[in-house]
Amino acid sequence: MTLTIPFDNSYARLPDAFYTRQSPVPVKEPQLIAFNEGLARILRISPGDVTEMAQAFAGNTVPDGAEPLAQLYSGHQFGTYNPQLGDGRAVLLGETVGADGIRRDIQLKGSGRTPYSRQGDGRAWLGPVLREYVVSEAMQALGIPTTRALAAVETGEAVYREGPMPGAVLTRVAQSHLRVGTFQVFAGRRQVESLKQLTDYAIQRHYLEAEGPMGLLRAVRDAQAKLIAAWMSVGFIHGVMNTDNSSIAGETIDYGPCAFMDSYHPNTVYSSIDRMGRYAYSNQPEIAVWNLAQLATALIQQYDDPQDGVEEATEIVHAMPDLLQQEWLSRFRAKLGLTREEDGDLRLITDLLKRMAEEQADFTNTFRALGGETARDQFTNPEAFDSWSEGWQTRISREADPLGVMSATNPAFIPRNHRVEQMIEAAVNGDYAPFHRLNDVLSRPFEDQPGNADLTRPPGANEVVHATFCGT
Ligand code: AMP
Ligand code: MG
Repeated sequence: MTLTIPFDNSYARLPDAFYTRQSPVPVKEPQLIAFNEGLARILRISPGDVTEMAQAFAGNTVPDGAEPLAQLYSGHQFGTYNPQLGDGRAVLLGETVGADGIRRDIQLKGSGRTPYSRQGDGRAWLGPVLREYVVSEAMQALGIPTTRALAAVETGEAVYREGPMPGAVLTRVAQSHLRVGTFQVFAGRRQVESLKQLTDYAIQRHYLEAEGPMGLLRAVRDAQAKLIAAWMSVGFIHGVMNTDNSSIAGETIDYGPCAFMDSYHPNTVYSSIDRMGRYAYSNQPEIAVWNLAQLATALIQQYDDPQDGVEEATEIVHAMPDLLQQEWLSRFRAKLGLTREEDGDLRLITDLLKRMAEEQADFTNTFRALGGETARDQFTNPEAFDSWSEGWQTRISREADPLGVMSATNPAFIPRNHRVEQMIEAAVNGDYAPFHRLNDVLSRPFEDQPGNADLTRPPGANEVVHATFCGT
C-alpha cells in the first residue's frame, strides 16, 4: 500500500508575498499514534502502511504532489498588534478537494522551524498534540465547525518546555488556514494588491455568493456568529481568541489552552496566560465582534479612499451583537427542548443559567438531565431547580417533542479537562488506551453509553484542572 493524497494546491499558486516555501524538518524516529480513517475517506486519501504514514506525517518524507510552505500572517494577541506572526511551527503540505467537493488544507503542526519561528523551536510536544486531536474531533462530533485531526505521530525526539517532553506532530485539516490576521498583515503593510488578491481568494474559496470586501465581511460575520453561539451552547472556552486564531471560514482553530466548563460560571477562565480574563467564557461573543472590527479595518484598506468603506463596514460590524444573540437564543432554546419562539424564552434561559451559576451546577450534566428526573440533583440546593422547573414544564407542554430535541442537542459526553489531562499523562508513560477510548466515546456524544458513564462525571476534588497551558 502506498499513501496517496490527491493534492491540488491553490495557495501555492498565489504570489510569493503570501508565504515562504519551507519543507518540514525531519525527525529522528517517527511512530504513528493515530490515523483518522473516516476523515481520510472524505479527503480521498489512500492510507499507506504504518511506517510510511509515520514518515509522511512526521515530515520526514514529502508526499507526491505536496508543495510545503509556511503561511504569513500577523494579528492582535490579547489586544496588542503584532505586525508579524506566521506559521512558526507548521507547514501547509497542500490541499485536497474531498469526496464532498470541499477543498481542505492539510497541514503539519510541530514540523520544525520556519522563517516565522522567531525564538521558538518550531516543535510541539505530545500533550498539546493529543489535546488538539481529541478536542477537535469531539467538536466535529458535536456538530461544531472545526479544524480536524488526520494523524498524530511521536517524533522520537525530546522537546524542551519545563523539562524534556516527548515531541509530536499533528496533521491538521482545515477548510483553510486563512485568519483575520492574514488580512491584517497586508493591510498593515499597505500591500493593497495582495490584500485584494487575498479578498478574491477567500471569496472564491469560502463564500462564492459574497460580493466584494464588504460581502466577505458580512459572510465571515455570519459564520463567526454561528460558531461562537455553538461554543457557548456546549460550555466551550477557546482561551486564545487572538485575531490570528480567528478563522475566515468560521471554524474553531488553534486549540491551545481551550477547555470545556465543568460547573457553570460565566466568568470561567482556564488559560494560564489569560490573566485578565479577556477570553473568559461569557466574553467570547464580545471578543468575536472586536475581532470582526479588526477584519473590517483591514479590508477597507483596499479602497482607494478607505473612508469610503467605513460606513458600510461599521454597519456590518454593529449588526453582529444582535446576530450573536439570535444564534445564541436558538441554540439555548433547543437545549431546553424548545422549537417554537415565545417571548418569555430569553428570561427562562437566563433564569436557569443564573441559578446554575449560584448553585455550581455542572453545565453539561444539568442540560443532559433536563430530559430525565435527575436535573435537580445537579444543584447544591435542588429547590433552586424546582422553582425554575415549574415555569419550564408549562412552557414545554406547548412543544411537540421536547425530549427528542434535548437529547439531540445536549451531549452526554464532552472532553472534560481532567480526563484530557489523565489521557496525556498516560500517553507520556506510553499508554495510549485512554486516548483511543476518549476518541471512541466522544465520537458519539449524544448517545447514552452506560458502559462509559465514568466519562460523564465531573472531576472529583483532587482531579479539578484549574489552569490549562498552551504548552507550545
Ligand atoms: P498560537 O498562540 O499557538 O496561536 O501561536 C502564535 C504564534 O507563535 C504563531 O505564529 C505560531 O506559529 C508561533 N509559535 C507558537 N509556538 C511556537 C514554537 N514552538 N516555535 C515557533 N513558533 C511558535
Ligand atoms: Mg495561532
